Amino acid sequence: KANRKFHPEDSVIEVGESKVKIGGGNFAVIAGPCSVESEEQIIEVAQKVKAAGATLLRGGAFKPRTSPYDFQGMRAEGIELLLEAKKETGLPIVTEIMNANHIPLFEEVDLIQVGARNMQNFELLKELGKLQKPILLKRGLANTMKEWLMSAEYIMAGGNENVILCERGIRTFETYTRNTLDLSAVPMLHELTHLPVIVDPSHATGMARLVEPMACAAVGCQADGLMIEVHNNPAKALCDGPQSLTPEQFAKVMGKVRKIKEVV
Ligand code: PEP
Ligand code: MN
Repeated sequence: KANRKFHPEDSVIEVGESKVKIGGGNFAVIAGPCSVESEEQIIEVAQKVKAAGATLLRGGAFKPRTSPYDFQGMRAEGIELLLEAKKETGLPIVTEIMNANHIPLFEEVDLIQVGARNMQNFELLKELGKLQKPILLKRGLANTMKEWLMSAEYIMAGGNENVILCERGIRTFETYTRNTLDLSAVPMLHELTHLPVIVDPSHATGMARLVEPMACAAVGCQADGLMIEVHNNPAKALCDGPQSLTPEQFAKVMGKVRKIKEVV
């Protein structure tokens, strides 16, 4: 179902009540903190990223942390706060699911994210395939494009064809960057599939100063959108501070992205 051969035209995925379009020439910018931390934080970030041109708001509520002793997210309360931020700004919301039992909590979430660590959680993918809600499927930490497309297929086979792919870097021998951003995946996937492909330069690099150049490169290779972590106070962030941009830095990246979009 994901194969371009049987579906030559680009899929355009509509997200939320406002029907924000992603794919087929419609560029999406998902921005917001790694984790929802408080009402003030998420609302402030939501207003600022919206002003800078973001089209969707992200924020983790259920967090897949490497250490069980690290902040695990605000969970259901985090989703409530994202809904508040949606009410304030009108931005559709994106947040990660880790457990199919939590699906009822995601009823009003506009775009459900499957994170890298769950890309091959096939039972979760099958349950998400029963919904009609769009799914943002991130590439696994060490998965091939073929495996990634098969995971999309798991969701689509159940009847939910609203899948967006997100390249977020893969594990290589390199240690200076958090992951290695595989930008060649973008044009390759555009050949293989009609599904939209977006790029997350924040998790790919792990470093705020590399987000702008990689975001620009992603636009240059025809990505259908970006996911960028933005925090009101990156130094104090409970998760992924080093890769988070301030709202001001994000606005600057958006300015560059707009200029590159004019020429590509
Ligand atoms: C995230 O987007 O917050 C996240 C955990 O990303 P990934 O699954 O790509 O590591
Ligand atoms: Mn993060």
